[in-house]
Amino acid sequence: MQLSKQVLQEPMNKIYDTIVIGGGVGGLSAGIYLQRYLLNSLIIDKGKARSFWMQELHNYLGLPPDTQGRTLLKHGKDHYLSLGGDLLNRYVEEVIDTGSIFEVKVKIGRQNSTYKIFHTKYLIAASGIIDNLPFVDNMQNVYDYAGYNLHVCLICDGYEMADKRVGIFGRNERSLEVAFSLGWFTPYITLFTQDMFEISSQFRDRLWEHEYKLVEKPISKFLGANHQMTGVQMMDGSVIELDAGLVSMGSQFHSAYLSGLNLQTQGETLVTDQICRTSHPRIFAVGDLKLGLNQVVVAASDGAIAATGIWRDIRRERGVKRRPSNIDSSILAS
Ligand SMILES: Cc1cc2nc3c(=O)[nH]c(=O)nc-3n(C[C@H](O)[C@H](O)[C@H](O)COP(=O)(O)OP(=O)(O)OC[C@H]3O[C@@H](n4cnc5c(N)ncnc54)[C@H](O)[C@@H]3O)c2cc1C
Repeated sequence: MQLSKQVLQEPMNKIYDTIVIGGGVGGLSAGIYLQRYLLNSLIIDKGKARSFWMQELHNYLGLPPDTQGRTLLKHGKDHYLSLGGDLLNRYVEEVIDTGSIFEVKVKIGRQNSTYKIFHTKYLIAASGIIDNLPFVDNMQNVYDYAGYNLHVCLICDGYEMADKRVGIFGRNERSLEVAFSLGWFTPYITLFTQDMFEISSQFRDRLWEHEYKLVEKPISKFLGANHQMTGVQMMDGSVIELDAGLVSMGSQFHSAYLSGLNLQTQGETLVTDQICRTSHPRIFAVGDLKLGLNQVVVAASDGAIAATGIWRDIRRERGVKRRPSNIDSSILAS
């Protein structure tokens, strides 16, 4: 059921088998599997998933390569709701581990916000990441091309850049290392520092050996029309023509709500075992938030694996038999 402000009391009185934080690809996939295991689940999603910005999903079995991320999400959400799952479009502020139950604190309303607490035995963190983008005075200029031919993912879009003149926009020397992988697809590479960091002499030598160009001046704006970027204008007025761009500026992790739980991470990425279980036995993580390939097919697969792991745990705990659904043992007051 799609939850709204008006119908929160009953869900707040329940203990869900699983609350999934994030309704992108990984979270919706997990939700579909949880519901099909006859478990009760709630997905809490603040919206605008990374997949929402994906203009074309080029590499997913069985879907046309021009499938938009938002289409995939709509089908996933409809599918989940058709199986009786609960969905709340809100932001999760914090998760508190009280022992056998997690309290999930959700922000309601942008102004004069109130907070509501939902309860669950298991948690799936599916809240993903979001890419840092090059900074120019008018950011709408970047949004016009980001996700079209200003790509953010070499694995997703290397093929689209084959034999094209590609500009790479980095945030430090290390982030520009992606040039040597992009070199598999195209030799016509220009690296942009945007005058934000220094390049070492060793790195310059490597670029020279590969015949890659280096531009160290600040950018004024991206040029192009109809979401197709055709080059970059520098602050000094000069123009560099390009056929595509690749942003390699790192990302922000949507995991602030987990900060009190002391989970094992590598950098900011959550470490999980083969069934997507984190270092906490009842917290699972799926998709871009965890170690692994940041791909739609992986996030969808993670969701299936995590949900199946949780079903197995609950089956073992309850014995083979499922509690009949008319005995609502999950009511908090009981
Ligand atoms: C422009 C672009 C193009 C791409 N192209 C491809 C491609 O062609 N092929 C491919 O396989 N992959 C592609 N990807 C990568 C793909 O989109 C991701 O790997 C995938 O979306 C990861 O899914 P996820 O479920 O982990 O995260 P997401 O899809 O990002 O979903 C996470 C959800 O959690 C929500 N959330 C975050 N924090 C909170 C919170 N505190 N409370 C509640 N909700 C929260 C977010 O709003 C979001 O809705 C592309 C990505 C981008 C940006």
